[in-house]
Amino acid sequence: MPLPASTVDLHAHSTASDGTLAPDALVAAAAAAGVRSFALTDHDTVDGLDAAAQAAQSHGLRLVPGVELSVNCAQKTLHVVGLGIDPACATLTDGLRQQQVRREHRAASIATKLEMLGVSDALDKAAALAGGGQITRTHFARLLVAEGRCKSLKKAFERYLGAGKPAYAGVEWATLDEAIRWIHAAGGRAVLAHPLHYKLSSGGRERVYAAFRDAGGDAIEVCSGNSSVADAARLADDARRHGLRASIGSDFHGPEQVWLGLGRLLPPPPDLEPVWHAPGWAD
Ligand code: AMP
Ligand code: MN
Ligand code: MN
Ligand code: MN
Repeated sequence: MPLPASTVDLHAHSTASDGTLAPDALVAAAAAAGVRSFALTDHDTVDGLDAAAQAAQSHGLRLVPGVELSVNCAQKTLHVVGLGIDPACATLTDGLRQQQVRREHRAASIATKLEMLGVSDALDKAAALAGGGQITRTHFARLLVAEGRCKSLKKAFERYLGAGKPAYAGVEWATLDEAIRWIHAAGGRAVLAHPLHYKLSSGGRERVYAAFRDAGGDAIEVCSGNSSVADAARLADDARRHGLRASIGSDFHGPEQVWLGLGRLLPPPPDLEPVWHAPGWAD
C-alpha cells in the first residue's frame, strides 16, 4: 500500500553524493510532490546545499540544510542525519573533510578488489559515475550493473559490495560521539537514520538507541521511504521508550527508485515530538 503524501521529507540525496538528480532538480521534484519542508542530506558532504537553497527559494519550499554521516558503532556502520546545520561551521567542515578522505581511501580499496575480480579501471569509472560528488558504494554498484555483472543495485550489494563480500572494504568512520558533536557544533539536530536497516537483533537495536541517546542524539527516523505501517509503529514505539524525537525522510536517491517517492511518508503519532518543530523548519 503506498504511503500517504506528507509535506515533510527530511532525508534525500542528490548528485553531490549518490542521488541521480542534481540538487536543483531534486528540490523541484520535492516541490512537485507537495513537500513543503525538505532536507537535502548527502553522504558526508554539504556541497549540494547552496544550489538546493536557491532552488528552494524559487519553488517556495523550506530547505532544512542537512547531511548524512557514516559512523562506526557496535561493529556496524550506522547513519546519522544532521538537520538544521550551518554548513559553514568549521567543526563540521573539518569532520566532513576527514570523512571524505576515508571515502577516497575506501574507493581505492574497493576498486583494487574489483580489478582482481576482473573489472578494469574501476576507480576511474566509479569516479566518472560520481561526477565530482562523493564516491559511494552505490557508484560501484551502478558500475557493476552497467557492465552487465549484476542485474540490480541490490544484487551488486549482495554479491560484491555488502559487508563481508569480495569487494567490501571496511572503513574507520567517525565515532557516534564525534558525529553528534559535529552536528551540534553546527547548530543542528542529530537523527538516527533508518534504524531497521542495520541488520541488528532487537537487543542490538536497543543498545544502539541507548548509545545514540548517551551521545546526545536527538531523534530517530520513524518512517523511511520503504517502511511498512508496522515498521513505522515499531519505530514510533522505540522513539517513545527512549525519549527521542521523531523524524521522517524518504531516503530518496532518484526517480528510478520507483517503489518510493519524495514525501511518501507516514506522519509520526501525535504524542511524539517532531524533530522539525523548530523555528524556520516548517509551516
Ligand atoms: P556508502 O556510504 O558508500 O557505504 O554507501 C552506502 C549507500 O549504498 C547507501 O546510502 C545506499 O544508498 C546504498 N545501499 C546500501 N545497501 C544497498 C542495497 N542493498 N541495495 C541498494 N543500495 C544500497
Ligand atoms: Mn545512499
Ligand atoms: Mn543511510
Ligand atoms: Mn540516505
